[in-house]
Amino acid sequence: MIDVLVIGGGNAALCAALMAREAGASVLLLEAAPREWRGGNSSHTRNLRCMHDAPQDVLVDAYPEEEFWQDLLKVTGGLTDEKLARIAIRASSNCRDWMRRHGVRFQPPLSGALHVARTNAFFMGGGKALVNAYYRSAERLGVQIRYEAPVDRLDIVKGEFRAAYVNGERIEARACVLAAGGFESNRAWLREAWGQNERGEWPADNFLIRGTKFNQGVLIKHMQEQGADMIGDPTQSHCVAIDARAPLYDGGICTRIDCVSLGVVVNQRGERFYDEGEDFWPKRYAIWGRLVAQQPGQIGYSIIDSKAIGRFMPPVFPGVQADSLPELARKLGLPEQTFMATLDAYNAACRVGTFDHTALDDCHTEGLHPAKTHWALPLDTGPYYGYALRPGITFTYLGLKVNAQSAVHFGGVPSANLYVAGEMMAGNVLGQGYTAGVGMSIGTAFGRIAGTEAARAALQVKKTERERAAA
Ligand SMILES: Cc1cc2nc3c(=O)[nH]c(=O)nc-3n(C[C@H](O)[C@H](O)[C@H](O)COP(=O)(O)OP(=O)(O)OC[C@H]3O[C@@H](n4cnc5c(N)ncnc54)[C@H](O)[C@@H]3O)c2cc1C
Repeated sequence: MIDVLVIGGGNAALCAALMAREAGASVLLLEAAPREWRGGNSSHTRNLRCMHDAPQDVLVDAYPEEEFWQDLLKVTGGLTDEKLARIAIRASSNCRDWMRRHGVRFQPPLSGALHVARTNAFFMGGGKALVNAYYRSAERLGVQIRYEAPVDRLDIVKGEFRAAYVNGERIEARACVLAAGGFESNRAWLREAWGQNERGEWPADNFLIRGTKFNQGVLIKHMQEQGADMIGDPTQSHCVAIDARAPLYDGGICTRIDCVSLGVVVNQRGERFYDEGEDFWPKRYAIWGRLVAQQPGQIGYSIIDSKAIGRFMPPVFPGVQADSLPELARKLGLPEQTFMATLDAYNAACRVGTFDHTALDDCHTEGLHPAKTHWALPLDTGPYYGYALRPGITFTYLGLKVNAQSAVHFGGVPSANLYVAGEMMAGNVLGQGYTAGVGMSIGTAFGRIAGTEAARAALQVKKTERERAAA
């Protein structure tokens, strides 16, 4: 019998598998995806948020524990478990040497992401290179890996793991780590969670999924049915506004549209609906998905003029271009009259001071609702550009409740041999909101803890088995 069974094939699973193997356990990893799609959402990532008290290789200045904690407290509005959050924060300060030993390389951020040079360490080659490095290391260490192995249920007796089932095959192990992601790829579940709005629409039907299609939440649902203690709200997730032309799954980071603050955003009626100049990138990025989700048809249009070109990271696909604003409205299929009334009112309300995109500058609107509080320049220089935006779900927060050992709980009692890591438990730390790079901090910290604990539990069981056999 295998010592530790790891279910999932992304960052959290790989961290768990490597740690369990290093602790001397035999390890089998079951990845639902075929080899070429392995790595889940982790393969789309770019960086990891890291606490540090002084400059460290690719990280400048300092980002102390207290500041990291305050950032987390702010974005979650207090919906976080401080003890678990601090475990993830502290672990982020010393995990990179271990990551390097398994082949992960880091690089300074590229221009366009310099505001996170202090807080986030970027993976050389992105998340794809990170998961490939971990798989190589796992293979070298003797971790057994099976692809196209989706687990659909577990055999759990009185809170203890006995076996997992893959297409009817029973796989027994002495301990198990669940790291099979959230339920963001399950459109039926998203539909149920988001429900129907006052216009009779099912908003989630128009969501795009930024990452893997394999995170269907099968084991989250199964564990819920098995009576595991749950945490988090199914409607909470990381959700950003992305290029509406993105594919349904796996569009990744190249579907990002980041010119919102440089122009205006209108809905399909041609009306503005929120302050486009409220805040800088990380906060702005994380709220626009939900804002677009609340609009009719769950679509928005980011409108800029030529002055904005060169001031933001260009999207992969060019926007719709027109020489005049009425022509742009027609090309985007927006009602021309309302669109022009919106744009004329906006242009007339702009009070231009000293434009500075790196600060909350003094260019704002007056007498306009909603106001644009910063970076408000009239849209008056053709050609004009429009990008359609859709809500893009990154990952969901509903998951399993854990303790500091990352153990799954039943009725408040921690399991002796079943652990969970990554998106399946991130909701313990992230009740709502998001701060860039914390998904990988949580997955790495609790993946490593879960792997260590699972190995400890399995080796203990093995020792008892041997003693019994010898007696
Ligand atoms: C486009 C994008 C960019 C992101 N960028 C960042 C970033 O830069 N920094 C950051 O911190 N976070 C980022 N995130 C979030 C980050 O990806 C997650 O927080 C993190 O990867 C979660 O790791 P995980 O191992 O829990 O899940 P995943 O990496 O998604 O792995 C889940 C794995 O489980 C497998 N699986 C699912 N169901 C089953 C089953 N039933 N049986 C067996 N296997 C199963 C899947 O195939 C997959 O391999 C990003 C996410 C996306 C989508």
